[in-house]
Amino acid sequence: MTSYTSLSNDVPTVPAADLVTSGTLQLVVRCPHCGAQHRHLGLGLRRSPCGRYYVLAHPAAQLSAA
Ligand SMILES: [Zn+2]
Repeated sequence: MTSYTSLSNDVPTVPAADLVTSGTLQLVVRCPHCGAQHRHLGLGLRRSPCGRYYVLAHPAAQLSAA
């Protein structure tokens, strides 16, 4: 097992898509590690169900940042 003390250099940024389910907004991302779709409740650094890390970025936020 490898452990990182500094994640920011090794964490991909992935675009999230909005998903509204039963009045709850979730974010869906295509995992760059395992290729599956994972759901999250917020943006930012997230630990995926497959055990890897990535940074969820909303496409609209990316536009304003670029
Ligand atoms: Zn995954």
